[in-house]
Amino acid sequence: MVGAGISGLGAAHRLRGAGHQVDLIDRAAVPGGRCGPGILCGRAIMVGGRLIGAKYTALRDFLTELGPFPLEPAWMRLTHLIDGDLVALDHRDPASTLRYLVGAGAAAPDVVKFSYLSRRAQDEPGLLAPGYFSKLAGLGDRKPLTDHFDPVIARKLLAPMTIWMHGAEPDEVHLGSFGMVLSTIIDEFEQLTDGIQPVVAQLARRGVALRTGTTVSRVLVRNGRVRGLTLSEGGGPAVDRHYDAVVLALPAVVASELTTDEFPALAKLLAQVRYLPAAAAVVEYDREVFPPGVGGISLDNGPCRMAGAYGVERRNTVRYTFSGRAARPLPTAAVLDTWLGRTERLLADSFGLGALRRRGVVRRGWAAGYCAYLPFHLEFTTKLRHELAACGRLSLAGDFLLGTSLEACFRSGVAAAEAVTTELS
Ligand SMILES: Cc1cc2nc3c(=O)[nH]c(=O)nc-3n(C[C@H](O)[C@H](O)[C@H](O)COP(=O)(O)OP(=O)(O)OC[C@H]3O[C@@H](n4cnc5c(N)ncnc54)[C@H](O)[C@@H]3O)c2cc1C
Repeated sequence: MVGAGISGLGAAHRLRGAGHQVDLIDRAAVPGGRCGPGILCGRAIMVGGRLIGAKYTALRDFLTELGPFPLEPAWMRLTHLIDGDLVALDHRDPASTLRYLVGAGAAAPDVVKFSYLSRRAQDEPGLLAPGYFSKLAGLGDRKPLTDHFDPVIARKLLAPMTIWMHGAEPDEVHLGSFGMVLSTIIDEFEQLTDGIQPVVAQLARRGVALRTGTTVSRVLVRNGRVRGLTLSEGGGPAVDRHYDAVVLALPAVVASELTTDEFPALAKLLAQVRYLPAAAAVVEYDREVFPPGVGGISLDNGPCRMAGAYGVERRNTVRYTFSGRAARPLPTAAVLDTWLGRTERLLADSFGLGALRRRGVVRRGWAAGYCAYLPFHLEFTTKLRHELAACGRLSLAGDFLLGTSLEACFRSGVAAAEAVTTELS
């Protein structure tokens, strides 16, 4: 197993459950991948993916079975800063959102279209799977999302959504994956009170061998079958290690690099998937930042497009996300600090606070932070399955398969483990 993010945890758990010996390999010293585990002022946090929706059933079952691990409510009403005005748009009150759009001059047929798609998405599981939105992809994925909606809707409503889910502007994503965004955004969220670390520790107690600080450079193949990995432990020399099968639970761009020598056609396909950078910081302050009833703020321009209270219980802690065009390329630590300072001043001005005093800060950046997908996603996965069928005992998991959410990643890991188990039996 390569990659100890949520996809890898799903795969490792299922493989172990099927009775296999599992090495869970990760180049980072601390497992958890883009969940971005860290410690802030003595408490566990996740700088990256942390929100667990009510629809995240597979992940929730896993957490219950392995734990249980305490969850705390995490999502509150978001206020939007649009053209300098604070606007409260609540997904639980779609009528007010539609009224706001019409009042802002959005074309009525497009408001109706948006409203219809939102209703269709309500019952969807938030995954990139065959269904209504994959059919829409066939009709509409030749053009970006912005070509399907009035610019007022695109800027005021779609942008905060696509930025939140993909770190992408609405002209960088397509209709086919928009159902996943809509379905996810209207969910209700919780988060792991103690972060992802206890989950990984429990998996290790169940017999998954964790090999952190170990970088894999290639997949080894003999007679068309995967035979192991070339890896380097703790910065040491590259060595070959034998494995009966390999699951790569990585961003597509990394899986492409590891397979390029042995499976060039697969690697070429994987390299097409677009990734966008993301940086984030979690800061604890000497007091609460948002007024009662406001859980966070979505900003309509600049590198920071989202700043939210870390949780209902932790309102003096704010998670800032830096993504979208103005946040590219991935910032250096110095640039990130400048952006952070600017956003703190903006928050202080918007909510009439004095200078905020920091108690602690944890920062992270990912070059391949968000998967922005390809148009015609199901065609891509069909081609991928075809190529993968020629790569014996290799399986893939990650955000580029079923979706970007923790649930989608977890499910992709389970599916990858099941494919390997079938092949080995
Ligand atoms: C800022 C941010 C906030 C997000 N918020 C949410 C959220 O609230 N809710 C939600 O559902 N989703 C969220 N997401 C999306 C979600 O977090 C990710 O899609 C998911 O965590 C990806 O998991 P993964 O296991 O597929 O990949 P990763 O977490 O990236 O795991 C891959 C692992 O592979 C390791 N690795 C890479 N290369 C090598 C190598 N050569 N050798 C060995 N190891 C290697 C990496 O160190 C990493 O640990 C967010 C994403 C970001 C960036």
